[in-house]
Amino acid sequence: MSTIEDCLFCRIVAGEIPVTMVAETEHTVAFRDINPQADVHVLVVPRIHEPDIGSLATADPDVTIALLAEARRIADDEAGGQYRLVFNTGAEAGQTVFHAHAHVLGGDIHVPLPG
Ligand code: AMP
Ligand code: ZN
Repeated sequence: MSTIEDCLFCRIVAGEIPVTMVAETEHTVAFRDINPQADVHVLVVPRIHEPDIGSLATADPDVTIALLAEARRIADDEAGGQYRLVFNTGAEAGQTVFHAHAHVLGGDIHVPLPG
């Protein structure tokens, strides 16, 4: 498993930084965003380090599918299956943590829809 020592989400996956944990699976860790933008705002993070979702999809399709399935399961649990998935990719698009992650947003969402 690849990890990067000074990566925030690798450190969370390793249990070195406390979070409000939602669920852990073989391939993913899910926890509440520290700065929620919706009633439900959960981050689903692969255990392996890849810098963004596209890189993860190329490097490990199985983990990518596991991440998507876990996002759905959490949204089913917490938001009646009604949810928005956000994958910011690149600093100019708002990515601040360069370890792939899905934002699962549900309930009252405080960020506008694109378009
Ligand atoms: P992004 O801007 O798409 O890279 O998303 C990174 C997200 O990580 C932001 O929504 C932050 O609020 C969230 N975040 C940063 N540090 C923590 C932390 N220690 N625990 C939980 N969420 C965090
Ligand atoms: Zn990482």
